[in-house]
Amino acid sequence: PHVVAKIAAGEVIERPSSVVKELVENSIDAGSTRIDIDLEVGGTELIRVADDGHGIEPDDLALAFAQHATSKLTSADDLFAISSMGFRGEALASIAGVGKVTLQSRPPALASGCEVRCDGGDLSAVRPWNGSPGTRVEVRHLFYNVPVRKKFLKSVATELGHVCETVTRLALGNPGLHLVLRHNGKLVYEVPATAGLADRIGLFFGAEVRDTLYEIDSGPGRQRVVGYVADPKCDRGNAKLQYLFVNGRWFRDRSLAHALQESYRGLLMTGRYAVGFLFLTVPPDSVDVNVHPTKAEVRFQENSLVYSLVRATVKARLLRENL
Ligand code: ADP
Ligand code: MG
Repeated sequence: PHVVAKIAAGEVIERPSSVVKELVENSIDAGSTRIDIDLEVGGTELIRVADDGHGIEPDDLALAFAQHATSKLTSADDLFAISSMGFRGEALASIAGVGKVTLQSRPPALASGCEVRCDGGDLSAVRPWNGSPGTRVEVRHLFYNVPVRKKFLKSVATELGHVCETVTRLALGNPGLHLVLRHNGKLVYEVPATAGLADRIGLFFGAEVRDTLYEIDSGPGRQRVVGYVADPKCDRGNAKLQYLFVNGRWFRDRSLAHALQESYRGLLMTGRYAVGFLFLTVPPDSVDVNVHPTKAEVRFQENSLVYSLVRATVKARLLRENL
């Protein structure tokens, strides 16, 4: 109960991409090396995420849908030293409240697995399931019982676009992971495990971005930033290719976006944005990832130090290119 009390407001399932994010994060937390995402009609008809992770024991299967059922926290203090992606224990329960969910899982050590269905909160009996090791979650008819939210969904292309953005962030943040996205049976992205960060950037944003990248590294320290920035001549029009990650998790941060932009002062045409893929590593207890229900924003204990580190590192790298 103590843990629950410290957890903020409910998980937000706004659109298909929110479902994809939560399910893939669960797969990553389960130690998966390959994750397949299948969508139909922008994810409104079907979202299926299949992984090769450690699975769920048959006895725990029904429990996964319980509010605040998380196997990832043991004490309230853990909330401030989080290394797994999920931790609120709300995602599956929230998704099952707004869609028809089938959860199938087989821990690799077992000869067979089990499945359970949850439709709008009603749980079925647990039945045997003969699938390969890992977990498969299928979500059908998202928002079938929440007409208001269904009405706010945009076109298939727009919803697919949101999913693509979510998959991009997950693929950039998890090098080593094999990710496949299909839409209506057609391959959208396949990111092999062997693709490094620069390859992944090339895969999502094209060779014209990849070929202008400079690697950055602030060097070891309490805070460290590594990643890539692009040469100022890399012109993406008014698109904003700025991706920030902290301890492997994507986040949004106006202050650090400003730090990146400031490093390019005088180098860009007006109205253009600096291109950067920045990966911060900070001590887990110095960053609060629990300030936003979807974890899109974080709070750094040493905000101004992190700001200076990013600006100085990028600036120094551009100077080395005589820019
Ligand atoms: P959280 O991720 O915050 O713990 P979720 O509601 O997302 O909560 O998931 C509930 C629980 O179900 C997880 O803690 C985990 O034990 C189990 N689970 C969900 N998805 C998977 C998966 N793909 N592989 C293994 N276990 C899973
Ligand atoms: Mg989760």
